Amino acid sequence: MEEQMKEWPEPFSTTGGKTSMLVTMQEQVKEWLDQDKVDLFLGYKMVQKHPLPHCFTKDNLDEVDELIAGQARYSLEKIATKIAAERPEIKIGLLARDCNQRALNVLYVWNQLNPDNLETINVNCCPSKLKEHGDCSYLEPEQVGSFKKMIGIDNIIEVKAAEEFSQEDRFNRWMYEFQKCLKCYGCRNICPVCFCEECSLEHTDLIATGSIPPEVPIFHLVRAVHMGGRCIDCGLCEDTCPVDIPLRLLYRKVNETVEDVFGYVTGTNADQSPFNLLGDEVTLKIKPI
Ligand code: SF4
Ligand code: SF4
Repeated sequence: MEEQMKEWPEPFSTTGGKTSMLVTMQEQVKEWLDQDKVDLFLGYKMVQKHPLPHCFTKDNLDEVDELIAGQARYSLEKIATKIAAERPEIKIGLLARDCNQRALNVLYVWNQLNPDNLETINVNCCPSKLKEHGDCSYLEPEQVGSFKKMIGIDNIIEVKAAEEFSQEDRFNRWMYEFQKCLKCYGCRNICPVCFCEECSLEHTDLIATGSIPPEVPIFHLVRAVHMGGRCIDCGLCEDTCPVDIPLRLLYRKVNETVEDVFGYVTGTNADQSPFNLLGDEVTLKIKPI
């Protein structure tokens, strides 16, 4: 029997006919490319039935007919930082959901992207089914996504709810979680705001090498500290983590403290992060993956 597939609402539809919103989006991108408003546009295209990030250019204008908003989430802005580091003069267009936009705001503040060279087509994922997987805390803080419920680990309980457990329970839970880590670096590599040239997680004076899990709890605490004033709660790290460590909860706590102490709401504030001690000295440089 043929499997019944659920159709995604526009503009996320990939199986049905073109929706008017999708056509408008494609026309806008074609116009930008054709009129050299942008040199390239980062969006999604179906490849082997999977929505994958794709770079659309003027040389292949017809290909823009294949542009979709996609059911998947990738940090397109991270791809943009790599391009900008190599070719800072290039004008980049980008499909931006709310989390992409928050990441862009952080990358502007940290001088990893020049806002004058970026154009975005903003797609709000709030009314779509994506929120059930994306678990966007900025949009619906009280909701627990059904995907997380399905796998039986409620990783995205609110910080306050987590703090109702005793200190001993919390300590034991985190030690359990950290010991699952495979040190695959997936959380760091997918993170749109992880851009340091030299990564402390690979600094042998800080993190011992040669064993798995990586030193508990220092590996995770080092990353958590570095996410202060940077993490925009996109959840990609947790989606990526092969062993389901509730990373967002940790980073939410860190950024809750940043907000309490400095009044700084990461990703929505155009001011310099309280942790950017180097100011404009932070320059566009390629960070090896
Ligand atoms: S949620 Fe994870 S991937 Fe997203 S910005 Fe924060 S640390 Fe990076
Ligand atoms: S993605 Fe998960 S397993 Fe991999 S390094 Fe990060 S926390 Fe560890």
